[in-house]
Amino acid sequence: MIKKDHKNDTDSLLEVVIKDYRAYPEMGIKRCLQCGLCTSNCPAARHSDYDPREMVKMVRDNNPEIMDNPDIWNCFYCYTCGSNCPANNSPCIVNQILRQKILLKGEKNTRIYKFLTYGYSYMDFGVGSIPSDFFDALVADFGQMYVELKINLEDIRHDLGLEDYNLKGKALNEVKSILKSSGFTNRLKKFKECHES
Ligand code: SF4
Ligand code: SF4
Repeated sequence: MIKKDHKNDTDSLLEVVIKDYRAYPEMGIKRCLQCGLCTSNCPAARHSDYDPREMVKMVRDNNPEIMDNPDIWNCFYCYTCGSNCPANNSPCIVNQILRQKILLKGEKNTRIYKFLTYGYSYMDFGVGSIPSDFFDALVADFGQMYVELKINLEDIRHDLGLEDYNLKGKALNEVKSILKSSGFTNRLKKFKECHES
């Protein structure tokens, strides 16, 4: 049976997570023993106040404050947490479900706005590209090397015998078709309208 997005507003946060289609059947959120291994291995926790162990605890405690916690937007879905969890839980997927629930409220969310260009890149070129808002930060971290890479990426790929980075022709049309039929295109448009209204 395919699980659907959160259907019942009276569901506890734990029920919302467990019922979501992203939660695989054996996902062990109920077995979380609060060992903190996820947090100790989480890059986002290392560089911010985000704490996946605490997030899981708040979901289990049905504590709605987790929905207003700006730190949950620091997770970048690397999936390290789940690969180390002794309970076969995935804080990464828990985070995705919470953030999705927040976004479904249809309110403006400055955290997501920067990433809309990532979605538009999928639609236009069939691949995601790093939003331009992060360009200055990447240049600050990697220096001129990053600028050179951006400018010469296609040449470098061709030298390595790789195809163009962006999809073209049939492959691009197939991606566009999938994005449209899955509702992605329409949803992205709604997010954009919401932020620009
Ligand atoms: S690693 Fe797994 S069991 Fe340990 S706190 Fe994180 S989610 Fe819970
Ligand atoms: S997926 Fe998110 S919570 Fe898990 S380790 Fe990566 S950044 Fe941390």
